Amino acid sequence: MTSIFEEETTLFADLILPVPVPSLFTYRVPREMSGLVKVGARVIVQFGQKRVITAVIARIHSTPPVKYQAKYILELLDEQPIVTQYQLELFNWVSEYYLCNIGEVLNVALPAGLKITSQSRIQVNPEFEYEDLLTDQERIVVDEIRKQQTLSYEEVERLLQKSNITAIIKSLVGKRAVILYEEVKERYKPKVLKKVRLAAAYTSNAALSALATSLEKNQKQQEILLKYLSYIPVYNHAELNQKGLDKSFFSQDDSISDASLNTLIKKGIFEQFEIFVSRFDDLPSGNMANISLSDSQKEASQQIEELLAEKEVVLLHGITGSGKTEVYIDLIKKVLEGGSQVLFLLPEIALTTQIVVRLRKVFGDTMGIYHSKFSDNERVEVWKGILDGKFQFVVGVRSAIFLPFDNLGLIIVDEEHETSYKQHDPAPRYNARDVAVIMSYMHKGKTLLGSATPSLESYFHAKSGRYGLVEMKERYGNAVLPDFQLIDTKKEKKQRQMKNEFSSVLIQHLEHNLTHKEQTILFQNRRGYSPYLQCEECSWISECPNCDVSLTYHMKVKELRCHYCGHKEEVPRTCPNCGSTKVKTMGYGTEKIEDELHLMFPEARVQRMDLDTTRAKNAYQQIIQEFEEGGIDILVGTQMVSKGLDFDNVSMVGIFDADRIIHFPEFRASERAFQMLTQVSGRAGRRADKRGKVLIQTANPSQKLLERIVTNDYEGMYESEIAEREKFSYPPFTRLIKLTVKHIDEQTSQRAAKILAEKLTANLGASRVLGPQPPLVERVRNQFLFDILIKLEREKINFKAAKSFIQEKVIDTLTDKTLKSIQVVIDVDCL
Ligand code: ADP
Ligand code: ZN
Ligand code: ZN
Repeated sequence: MTSIFEEETTLFADLILPVPVPSLFTYRVPREMSGLVKVGARVIVQFGQKRVITAVIARIHSTPPVKYQAKYILELLDEQPIVTQYQLELFNWVSEYYLCNIGEVLNVALPAGLKITSQSRIQVNPEFEYEDLLTDQERIVVDEIRKQQTLSYEEVERLLQKSNITAIIKSLVGKRAVILYEEVKERYKPKVLKKVRLAAAYTSNAALSALATSLEKNQKQQEILLKYLSYIPVYNHAELNQKGLDKSFFSQDDSISDASLNTLIKKGIFEQFEIFVSRFDDLPSGNMANISLSDSQKEASQQIEELLAEKEVVLLHGITGSGKTEVYIDLIKKVLEGGSQVLFLLPEIALTTQIVVRLRKVFGDTMGIYHSKFSDNERVEVWKGILDGKFQFVVGVRSAIFLPFDNLGLIIVDEEHETSYKQHDPAPRYNARDVAVIMSYMHKGKTLLGSATPSLESYFHAKSGRYGLVEMKERYGNAVLPDFQLIDTKKEKKQRQMKNEFSSVLIQHLEHNLTHKEQTILFQNRRGYSPYLQCEECSWISECPNCDVSLTYHMKVKELRCHYCGHKEEVPRTCPNCGSTKVKTMGYGTEKIEDELHLMFPEARVQRMDLDTTRAKNAYQQIIQEFEEGGIDILVGTQMVSKGLDFDNVSMVGIFDADRIIHFPEFRASERAFQMLTQVSGRAGRRADKRGKVLIQTANPSQKLLERIVTNDYEGMYESEIAEREKFSYPPFTRLIKLTVKHIDEQTSQRAAKILAEKLTANLGASRVLGPQPPLVERVRNQFLFDILIKLEREKINFKAAKSFIQEKVIDTLTDKTLKSIQVVIDVDCL
């Protein structure tokens, strides 16, 4: 009945295009596709003049757009949706909350392997007649295309041995000799394994005997058959034949020729087939291994369950080494047994190590792993594995929040205070921890946040009763928190006891640890050899030509590098300003500490772990493994050494330059310093039989914050910080939105920022709008930056309305003709 109606109705689809445009686009569904299109499926469409892109269907309806003529969808890629309803809702939420385009959200959500790329190909115009118009080179191209049917740009380049062929192609198009068209390619390639098995007709015992006899004349072929049967005993177990043998198994055997095997396949005795294999098969596999929880872990797990029954979110505040992971595992198992999905979020760096191996041992290959260092194909496999139901449980980094779950029971956010949950660039500038709460809510699931040093925001919500709060105050298995010692570097300097950056106390302890074969971690939160070079004569300082920061000296590669824009240059032998040879390195980073350790303790095995030593895919894991196996005595590193690592034999942690971390000019500095120093200290003394030691070098040992770190007084830190935040209207009492205006001309940038700030102030009031002011680094990549900080009270203000007002004013400024080509970055809940 309805079919007549359907026949006549033209369908339209509103699509999310993975590009920064503010709205959905409506396309026309071709008649032959009308029974097949589904919301959440991918399609290919033409966008703009030349581009062909992948888009996702958000809505299907029968209303043509009013403002433009809808173009046809070119191709439908999926029979079944690959984006779920929940995701569509989430993408929408993220784009509204973080003031960005939904296409930008789709763009970070979809792994590149699910986006199709288009490549221009060239074919000869069948109606082309004017052969004598062609130049010699054009003639070569046209002749070759006639031979090959079509050519790609690269093939033409190779043909003419030229790297820029656009002019020739343009001319050919102008003469109507060739036509360009877009060939669409799927980027994802499943990993396939070639296998062989006996054809079904030969699997009965009678047929097998007859076959063996008939092959007697051909020894080579018979050998293959026998070899196959020796691995797959088809005689007794015909059903085993189905799985077959890897084809490579035969080709590795020298006595067997590929030709004979291929003949058997051609004769129809063997058949060849392919299977898709997962790229994760080489990881250790698990068996839902049983762990027994300690009493306090049991209690914590139970409390969490009880609290989650009534609250959406629970915060687990457990000191380092309390065994939070085991508690998580216990809860994950229960949720999975109940038939719901679980997502476990970890900060980027923690995900590559120990914790994943531990989880894998328990959950085996039912656990998907989603990491940015994985290849795109691997990420597509996780995406598809969730849709197929293969992965009910996924552990991943922040972008895993965008995976296609349809029944999430629990999201765990471990180390929830970590700033790496927030994406800085590009948009969407989301915080995966906060999105997790929304996402769980959509799924009617729950969120568990965990940390030894919770963010003030989360602890505030827990204290106020909005979140449940569970505390674990003891380390697992009778281990205790380490013993702290503050070392007064001012005093040591006066008494000339320091050796460069090392206090005499630290050196003594290093010696002790080396003789007793115990491991040490040294923490300096700055990479490179030294943060700048300076001329002793004229005070010249090495600076980046593109940014307002000093260039860091990297000794190993003998280079000066900018940590903001990546600029590199050679180290000057003399001062570029006065010609003096007294150019000295100032300050110190991990590389210098490593260097000095080599000089002081030539026999010690020292390894450095920072961004520069861990760029390669497995470098990080290799260092961790070597350290675990005892191949390293002293590990020197940046924040990287503080993230979730669990080593038995580390009895000491040494911290340089705590003052620089504590006094960073930023309102969150105390909170961050507490978190960072507590976390890195937590790597020491995880064994029950030996208390660890933490040495902190500081010019001012009587600072209150240091006392709180030493006594593990999170509460004290929280109380004093939260009072400050309230007094000066900072989060969690307000929400912050940062607008950054950028332009290559300083005046233009400043003027635009001023105009924008005035517009905002007129409506929001001066107390809510701070700035414009230049950020700490005023110029980056040759652009001058000006920040405007907007503070909106949590309770009093309609956040949504305020945001759309802000967005409106930003658009006003962007479209102001007197302020040409400025950029404005909007960062909601900036960190
Ligand atoms: P946290 O993440 O809270 O700092 P971990 O989860 O890393 O602590 O646990 C600290 C150490 O104690 C790890 O080596 C872990 O294997 C061990 N551990 C914790 N709970 C248990 C348990 N129930 N059974 C065995 N080992 C445990
Ligand atoms: Zn000089
Ligand atoms: Zn730079």
